[in-house]
Amino acid sequence: MTEAGGTEHLVTSPVQPGARPLRPTRAEIDLDAIAHNVREVRDLVAPAEVVAVVKADGYGHGAAPVARAAVRAGATGLAVALVEEAEELREAGVTAPILLLSEPSPEAAGRAVTAGVVPTIYSVDFSEALRKEASQQGQPIRVHVKADTGMGRVGVPRSEWESFLHVLRAWPELEVEALWTHLACADIPGDPAVVTQLDRFDEFIQIARKQGFQPSLVHAANSAAALTLERSHRDAVRLGIAMYGCPPSADLAGVGDLRPALRLVTEVAFAKHIEAGTPVSYGHTWRAPHEGWLATLPIGYADGLPRLLSNRAEVLVGGERRPLVGTVCMDQILVWCGEQEVVLGDEVVLIGRQGLEEISVQDWANWARTITYEIVTGLGPRVPRVYRSRSLEHEK
Ligand SMILES: *Cc1c(COP(=O)(O)O)cnc(C)c1O
Repeated sequence: MTEAGGTEHLVTSPVQPGARPLRPTRAEIDLDAIAHNVREVRDLVAPAEVVAVVKADGYGHGAAPVARAAVRAGATGLAVALVEEAEELREAGVTAPILLLSEPSPEAAGRAVTAGVVPTIYSVDFSEALRKEASQQGQPIRVHVKADTGMGRVGVPRSEWESFLHVLRAWPELEVEALWTHLACADIPGDPAVVTQLDRFDEFIQIARKQGFQPSLVHAANSAAALTLERSHRDAVRLGIAMYGCPPSADLAGVGDLRPALRLVTEVAFAKHIEAGTPVSYGHTWRAPHEGWLATLPIGYADGLPRLLSNRAEVLVGGERRPLVGTVCMDQILVWCGEQEVVLGDEVVLIGRQGLEEISVQDWANWARTITYEIVTGLGPRVPRVYRSRSLEHEK
């Protein structure tokens, strides 16, 4: 139990099945923050629906708990990248509709149908495999057709759109529920490619309507587009990173009233007073500028802390920002506390708030020259996720 009568649920990591972790390093996931962010975006985009994207284990936050919190907060569906991710959600008892964002191989069509996903289609081979599944089970399968309007990754290209639709028209076993596309530059404010893609998307839609398709849904927006571009909202937005309370890019930090869902915490595992000039960690890339306190923390790059943070990042100890010094090791890092004495067991916050200070995922992304997505999805399986919620009485 946490303060205010909320619940706390500990999911042990695969490294320690069933056992309480011995290491104090943990990721605290605030499910109320997830719910708040879903509501916030839902209010912003209504009447468009919110589809909660929980691929990559819910961006490292845990797919099933995040999915449940999102659906309770008003998300009308979920989205994942892999059939296996959908299977995991179903095994966890999640019953909400799940959109599969990419095609698996045609051989996996049966597994996709069994998992009860709504497949995205853009190739004739996979569509044909699905059609066979549909005729075997004697009822049509709902599909979302993806158009490539300029992302250049997957989706039906403009040059093949008419012929692809022509094939689909001959296959009533596949019920085209939606047309969708994905924007390449929505996280770059004012980038003209966004408007170009939305214009092209309208053209794809018009052609489909002319060929007799009447999709009940059209969707294009990811988090960045949902937050910044009303024109992109259409009938649904696919909400990923913003649901976790992280900005899609440094340029969009502070857009929307989003609450970070992740807090990454550990404790001082070893502390000592060192002499001026003492070198530390691999390669001796740092030496103490004067005598003072050095703390060792039990977290390293094997837990998802980028090695690029070596001599670049800060952590919170005793409510103060303290520099990460020396090279990041596989299982440990070192923190310079100067005159502030530290002792074994002192709480250290790597991401999140401590006292008046806060370190964000975007701070880590800046230090590691990457994006928030890579930071949160990189959090390793060795870090136990602890769930907090004041409002949800949530079962495993
Ligand atoms: C991951 C993904 C999203 C979610 O993107 P965010 O920027 O995290 O909101 C939306 N659509 C597709 C196709 C994706 O792959």
